[in-house]
Amino acid sequence: MNSNLLNNLNTPCYVVDEKKLVKNLECLNYVMRQTGCDILLAQKAFSMYYVYPLIGKYLSGTAASGLYEARLGREEMSEKQVHVFSPAYKEDEIKVLADIADHIIFNSFAQWEKYKKIVCGSNKVSCGIRINPEYSEVETEIYNPCSKASRLGVRIYEFEKNEDKLDGIEGIHFHTLCEQGEDVLERTLVHVEERFGKYLKNMKWINFGGGHHITRDDYDVEALIRCINRFQKKYDIHVYMEPGEAVALNAGTLVSTVLEVQEENDGISNVILDTSAACHMPDVLEMPYRPNIKGSGKSREKAYTYRFGGPTCLAGDIIGEYSFDSRLKPGDKVEFEDMAIYTTVKNNTFNGMPLPDIDLLDREDNIHVVKKFGYEDFKMRL
Ligand SMILES: *Cc1c(COP(=O)(O)O)cnc(C)c1O
Repeated sequence: MNSNLLNNLNTPCYVVDEKKLVKNLECLNYVMRQTGCDILLAQKAFSMYYVYPLIGKYLSGTAASGLYEARLGREEMSEKQVHVFSPAYKEDEIKVLADIADHIIFNSFAQWEKYKKIVCGSNKVSCGIRINPEYSEVETEIYNPCSKASRLGVRIYEFEKNEDKLDGIEGIHFHTLCEQGEDVLERTLVHVEERFGKYLKNMKWINFGGGHHITRDDYDVEALIRCINRFQKKYDIHVYMEPGEAVALNAGTLVSTVLEVQEENDGISNVILDTSAACHMPDVLEMPYRPNIKGSGKSREKAYTYRFGGPTCLAGDIIGEYSFDSRLKPGDKVEFEDMAIYTTVKNNTFNGMPLPDIDLLDREDNIHVVKKFGYEDFKMRL
C-alpha cells in the first residue's frame, strides 16, 4: 500500500486486498476446472461476507461449522452450496439446517441415527460421516484432530461396528491437515484408503477438509490436480475440499499506529500500538507465532529493535520483537502481513478494546470502509 493511502487510514484496521484475493480465487478455480472437484470457503477462517459475491464467482459455496455460519453462507452466497459439519447438533438447529444446507456431515453414527428422519424428510440434503483416519502430521496439539482421545471423527473400528447404519450416507469427510502441502495430503490419503477404502466405492463424495495451503507460493498445485483426478477415477467419487486459509492467504494486512515508544528497560524498548494480539490477532498467542511487519527485520537485524505490545492490561499482550532502519515515533504506521485469516472471525473486545475497521482495497487502489465499530459493539454483548 502506498504511504498516502496508509497514512489516511483510521487505525487499527484490517485491509483486505481485492487483487490478492482474486489471485487466490483464480488458483482455486483452476484446480476445480482441471479436476471437476468442488472447492468451498471454510468460513471459520474468513467470513467477510462483503466479498462473498466475488468469492461465489470462483468457488462452489461455503463450509460451515454450525447454524450461524450455514445461515451466513446461504444468505450471502445464496445460489451456492452450503456444507455443514458440527461435532454435535441440537434438534432445533438441525431442523433449520435441513432447510438451508445441501450437505450435512455428522460426527458420529449416534448423531446420524438421531437426526436421520429430520434430514431425510428434506430430499435435497446429502448426508456424510466424518472419519478419523488416525493419521495427521499436525504438530500443534490444539490443531490436531487425530490427537489422543480426539472427539472429532469416527475411527475405523467404530465405523465397522456401525456398517449396518450406512444406508442413506452418501459421503465421507475428513479434516486432518493444517497449513500443509500436497505431500501431506498424499500421505494422509494412503491411510484413508487403507482403512476406509472398502467403503468409498459406495459413496458419492469425499470431502478432504481444509488445511491445504493451495495458494501458498511453494504449493504443488499440479500434484494436487493429479491426486484429485486419480482419486475420483479410482473410486468413481466426487471430491470436495474446504480450505479456509488458502482462500485469503496473504490477502490482507492489519494496520496499526504507534502510540508510544518507551525508554529502553532490561535491554529492550517497548512500543505500545493501538492494536492488541489478544483481541485482534489471537493466533499470535494461541499458535503461537510472530507475524511479519512490512519493512521490518528480525530482532537486532536492523539498527533499531523494539518489542511491540497492545494497549490492553494483559502483561502477555506481546506481538514480538522487530527491528527497523530508523527510529520509530508516535504516529508511525505499521502493517502486519497475512492478517485476513483467523482474525476478524476471532476478534473480541476484551478489556474494552475497540474492534478494528474492516476495509477493502479494490482493484483500482481505492479504500472502501466496509465495517466500522464503536462502543455499542462492546456494550451490547455484556
Ligand atoms: C478449520 C476447518 C477447515 C478450514 O481449515 P483451514 O486450515 O483454514 O484451511 C475446514 N474444515 C473443517 C472441518 C475445519 O474444522
